[in-house]
Amino acid sequence: MKIDLGKNIKAFYTTIYDGNMAYYTTNDKLSVDNNRQNIALKYDFDINELKYMNQIHGNRIEVVDSSSPSQILECDGIVTKEPNLPLMVQVADCIGVMFYDSVLDIIGVAHAGRNGTFLGISSQMVSKMIDTFGSNPKDIKVNLSPSIQKCCYEVDANMAEFVANNFGSEFTKGRFIDLQGINKMQLIKSGIIEENINISTICTKCSNQPYFSYRNDSGCGRFAGVVVINSKS
Ligand SMILES: [Zn+2]
Repeated sequence: MKIDLGKNIKAFYTTIYDGNMAYYTTNDKLSVDNNRQNIALKYDFDINELKYMNQIHGNRIEVVDSSSPSQILECDGIVTKEPNLPLMVQVADCIGVMFYDSVLDIIGVAHAGRNGTFLGISSQMVSKMIDTFGSNPKDIKVNLSPSIQKCCYEVDANMAEFVANNFGSEFTKGRFIDLQGINKMQLIKSGIIEENINISTICTKCSNQPYFSYRNDSGCGRFAGVVVINSKS
C-alpha cells in the first residue's frame, strides 16, 4: 500500500501477501531475504542500501547513512537525509511511524509499541530531526501505519489506569487504550501540525485487512513500512 508523504519520497506498507519482513520472527532467513528482494523490485529501491532496526521497545533514535550497517542495533527509530537510503520498520499490531521533513528532505521511521509510546518515541524523533538537521516541526509530515486500535487494544486494569493517569482519561475506555491518540498528542506537543498527521484507521486485529496481527496470531510475521528519498539527479 503506497503512502503519499510528499513528492520526493517513496513510502509504502507491505501486506501479508508480501510475506514476513522480520528475521527475528523466524528461523527461515532465506524467506525473509526473498520477501525483501521482492518488495525492492516491486517498489523499486536498492535492497543493498536498506536499513532496519532490531527494535527493542525503547525510544532511542539513530542517525544513519550509507556507511551504517544494514541492521541498526539497540534502537527503535532511524533517520537520514541521504537519498536512495531506504529505511524500514517492522510491525504486527505495533505502530510504524513515518516522518518526512518536506523542506529539508529528511526521513525517519520509528517503532511505536506500547512501551515506545509511553517513552515518547514520536517526540524523540521530532527532537532528533530538529537537533541534528535543523528541521522545523511545521514542515514535518507524519504517517501512522495500520496497527491495533482502541477497538481491540485491551490491557489489564492497572495498565489502563496507568494510561489514564499519565496521558489522560480520553485515551482509555474501560480497559481499552488508544496508542494512536497518545502518539498524536505527543506529536502535536512537539510542534507537528495536526493536519500533517495521518493515522491509518485500519485496525490490524479486527479489520480483516491483509496485515499481520500479533494478537491474532503470536507466531505471525511482521509487515513493514519503508520510506526512501528519491534521488535528485
Ligand atoms: Zn480493532
